[in-house]
Amino acid sequence: MSDERDDDVLAGAHLDTLAVRAGISRTMEGEHAEPLFLTSSYVFDSAADAAARFSGASPGNVYSRYTNPTVRAFEQRIAALEGGEQAVGTASGMAAILSTCMALLKSGDHVVCSRNVFGTTVNLFSKYLAKFGVEVTFVPLLAVDQWRAAIRPNTAMLFLETPSNPLCEVADLAAMAELARASDCLLVVDNCFCTPALQTPLALGADIVIHSATKYLDGQGRCVGGAVVGTQRHMEEVVTFLRTCGPTMSAFNAWVFLKGLETLRLRMEAHSRSAQDLATWLQQQPAVEKVFYAGLPDHPGHDLACRQQRAFGGVLSFAVRGGRQQAWNVIDAVRIMSLTANLGDAKTTIVHPATTTHGRLSEEDRAAAGISDNLIRVAVGLEDVEDLRADLQRGLEALH
Ligand SMILES: *Cc1c(COP(=O)(O)O)cnc(C)c1O
Repeated sequence: MSDERDDDVLAGAHLDTLAVRAGISRTMEGEHAEPLFLTSSYVFDSAADAAARFSGASPGNVYSRYTNPTVRAFEQRIAALEGGEQAVGTASGMAAILSTCMALLKSGDHVVCSRNVFGTTVNLFSKYLAKFGVEVTFVPLLAVDQWRAAIRPNTAMLFLETPSNPLCEVADLAAMAELARASDCLLVVDNCFCTPALQTPLALGADIVIHSATKYLDGQGRCVGGAVVGTQRHMEEVVTFLRTCGPTMSAFNAWVFLKGLETLRLRMEAHSRSAQDLATWLQQQPAVEKVFYAGLPDHPGHDLACRQQRAFGGVLSFAVRGGRQQAWNVIDAVRIMSLTANLGDAKTTIVHPATTTHGRLSEEDRAAAGISDNLIRVAVGLEDVEDLRADLQRGLEALH
């Protein structure tokens, strides 16, 4: 049963209100919090009702691979936050990317993809989609000329992440959207690093937004999930793929993500504030060669990020003086930060990209992407920033 009073009031509401209230539909029990529907199937009122629901003549639930009220609540909330017509929850961020590609691409299509995307995304395109006749060309995120040159008559999709991981390169979303429109292809943006609290790509002309809900949407490192947001026409195709092929979001995870979204903007601002503090401090340390964070005025993406984002996010990286061993020494000396490749958690994480997240790239590809052996990535969490600074200080002292 839908809470129509809320639906009505929410048209035109601001992000924080939508993050707390969009998608709520109360049952007869009158519960205040979002209910969790842990059920795989649904009963019908009569044989005729069953027939009507199966045929689609009646909109009721049939089976949780098709629809689940908790997942639907999450979908409505993330759609409202991204400013999209419709959203679809998926089993993971990778399932969101796979479902989008399977639904909207066909054999013989070509994709231009940023070289600076999540490593598994590269594998998905080059290993699996290639097997089904979808060709992909990888280009550097910021080289718009190379994007333009790579586009062919059969190019159906441009795919990118901004800001990039781990160097925080910032792509001009409005310019990329214009290029996509002029080339009659879709612009798909993985908005994992900013979330709709800091950046809304659809408003800048992107066609589809992808999320790994595993990261900041959950925000506390509990559940794996994903989402696709876009027009109703595109999402219908994605929904049909999911219903047929099955990488749907679990109701339990959807419930966790709903609660995560309630605090999204507060968390993203806190992550950003602490990251800015640490980036500024790191820049002053003699043992640090260079800091990569778009919040720093000397970062090449700073001005663009100021226009396009509401804050600079929680991920920064820095190069220490020395090579791989020195970077490892710093990582091994910190005591509060967790040594893990995940990000978007309340707990700060620290990792050596060259030998973990980007370890499968060839040495040349890594060099081309700017992932040097002395580079360290920190995904700043919600601990007190003074303690985090002291922890990095402890790390840097390992270099003396
Ligand atoms: C983690 C991540 C993914 C994949 O999401 P999963 O939930 O792990 O499947 C995709 N894109 C980006 C930018 C990510 O950080």
